Amino acid sequence: MKIWVWADVTPDGPAPSALELLTKARELGDDVAAVALGPGATASADALGSHGATKVFASDDEIFANHLAQPAVQAIAGLVEEHSPDLILFPASYDARDVAGRLHARIGSTLMANATDVLGPDKARTEILGGTKVVDVQLKGPTPRLVIVRPQSFAAEPSGGTAEVVDVKVDIPDELTTAERTERHEEAASGPRLESAKVVVAGGRGLGGPDAFEQLEKLAAAIGNAAVGASRAAVDAGWVPYSYQIGQTGKTVKPEVYICAGISGALQHLVGMKSAKRIVAITKDADAPILKIADLGVVGDLFQVVPALTEEIEKRRTGS
Ligand SMILES: Cc1cc2nc3c(=O)[nH]c(=O)nc-3n(C[C@H](O)[C@H](O)[C@H](O)COP(=O)(O)OP(=O)(O)OC[C@H]3O[C@@H](n4cnc5c(N)ncnc54)[C@H](O)[C@@H]3O)c2cc1C
Repeated sequence: MKIWVWADVTPDGPAPSALELLTKARELGDDVAAVALGPGATASADALGSHGATKVFASDDEIFANHLAQPAVQAIAGLVEEHSPDLILFPASYDARDVAGRLHARIGSTLMANATDVLGPDKARTEILGGTKVVDVQLKGPTPRLVIVRPQSFAAEPSGGTAEVVDVKVDIPDELTTAERTERHEEAASGPRLESAKVVVAGGRGLGGPDAFEQLEKLAAAIGNAAVGASRAAVDAGWVPYSYQIGQTGKTVKPEVYICAGISGALQHLVGMKSAKRIVAITKDADAPILKIADLGVVGDLFQVVPALTEEIEKRRTGS
């Protein structure tokens, strides 16, 4: 049983999703390989190996970073033809989803998106109806089966292994380099990453405008090492950038504590945060759906509750 993982890589190393997927892949079989294309691929092999890849098909060629999915699909389609894997796991990043979809179209195999677990080489789990029902899906049709997995579905754990690096050499025809990446924008970030922060403080439409996010920043600073996120309503209103968005079309977070203010708890928001260990919700609507999944619900005006909470936390931290 050959199981491959698509590894998103940069010169800084592999994305956490690659290590999460490799940890799962080695549970499913012992012939596990990673495919890493673009600058940083070879240098990522140690980390990929130490999380379960016994082989890393790698190319550091800039062509994979400078052009959208087509060159990568050309390369992985060639590898699939040569090595016949049974299952390929993809993270849900924009680039990986693009590669998976195009690969599916090209080789005619089975593709499943939005998986929350992979139960075997031909079975994966997902959530439907806005996360209210869990279903196991039987994957049929030709191999390799392609499964796109939601972020943080598995915890990355090192295996202590090492990987053989297999150099990928591929001729990319000119017609596959027409879609060019012209600019790369890195969102300026301070503090912990939203996806890995132990505490997340999130705000929604109830904040009423961008200035109120300062209150959440202050609360996050008082807690220490906390990240600030938002509902889509706050992002769509332009109060905070898209990188803050939590939910179905945003990020998935699994912090120890999720504190939200002015968020009603629409299903599309819940799928991105309901796995938090503890949920604290502040809303003025006693019937808001978020209160049904909250461990602690505070019904009140966030403009009173959030500053009072911040002050209390600061007091307890400083002991004054
Ligand atoms: C295909 C699709 C994908 C989507 N993806 C996402 C996604 O990824 N993430 C996401 O979040 N949403 C997503 N949505 C949108 C989602 O359906 C909701 O519209 C959105 O989550 C609502 O955001 P909200 O809770 O901030 O706003 P609202 O639902 O308007 O809730 C605001 C809450 O604030 C409370 N409030 C108001 N003033 C105060 C105050 N002063 N103090 C305390 N409480 C107050 C209100 O009582 C209410 O409970 C998606 C929708 C679709 C159709």
